[in-house]
Amino acid sequence: MVLADLGRRINAAVSDVTRSSVVDQNAVDAMLKEISNALVEADVNIKLVLNLRKKLKATIDTEDKPGVNKKKIIQKAVFDELCELVDCKDAQVFKPRKKQSNVVMFVGLQGAGKTTTCTKLAVYYQRRGFKVGMVCADTFRAGAFDQLKQNATKAKIPYYGSYTEADPVKVAFDGVEKFKKEKFEIIIVDTSGRHRQEKELFAEMIQIGEAVKPNQTIMVLDASIGQAAEAQSKAFKESSNFGAIILTKMDGHAKGGGAISAVAATHTPIAFIGTGEHIQDLESFTPRQFVSKLLG
Ligand code: GDP
Repeated sequence: MVLADLGRRINAAVSDVTRSSVVDQNAVDAMLKEISNALVEADVNIKLVLNLRKKLKATIDTEDKPGVNKKKIIQKAVFDELCELVDCKDAQVFKPRKKQSNVVMFVGLQGAGKTTTCTKLAVYYQRRGFKVGMVCADTFRAGAFDQLKQNATKAKIPYYGSYTEADPVKVAFDGVEKFKKEKFEIIIVDTSGRHRQEKELFAEMIQIGEAVKPNQTIMVLDASIGQAAEAQSKAFKESSNFGAIILTKMDGHAKGGGAISAVAATHTPIAFIGTGEHIQDLESFTPRQFVSKLLG
């Protein structure tokens, strides 16, 4: 079930109950069951779904007083609870400042869409008047620098990397220093997403983080990987303590539920979503807007 189907199913469940002439407990329970099933089938963590169901039921029960419009209460409660699922209220939103160097480090598994998203974010900030540069700190994968170079050239973003230096920490450090000296305002560091062993990948990430001292670390997460998203993001959180998530591949066949669960598991907000392969396919994420769109 893709994300759009999830929205349609939830909408249909709400419509069924709000259109019926008598909104009794049985009708509400049937709606809650259908919404829960839809969320579970979209890979949202079962515990989160049970919690949502409990809260939804409690809100509908307490608000249900004589004279109030029960159908409106149900619609609002469903909307609010879905927002809650993807909201990370206590987290600080990163706001880069002009006239200073903001270092943004990207982490995530190979294939998640890291390099593509680095370029998208670079373009996003460049369009908002920032002086932006990109650094390729992936010396593990042959061709990584060429890919970043190609993307950056196409988007007209200055870049830094090396064909000869094998130490990713040195390349990251040198690139960031160079751009800092040249008064770049956003310096995006792309890191490796694969190693011989996972342990090595995480160790490298920690070292690069210590060398470039990022103002913001972003984890790129493929929204189509389902339940695996949660464990993956937890492992990355432990070593890179990222402060924001960018969900990629939200177009196409992403169920999205696993990624939504990753937000809750790591208490980290989604900053943007990737909605295609092109440079402009990046949308800033706000819970209310996302849920509005989901429900059509
Ligand atoms: P990396 O290995 O994490 O750096 O991943 P890449 O940036 O090379 O991306 C892997 C593949 O995913 C490429 O074919 C990208 O075009 C594609 N991709 C990245 N982001 C998106 C997205 O938001 N939507 C879609 N449909 N494809 C994406």
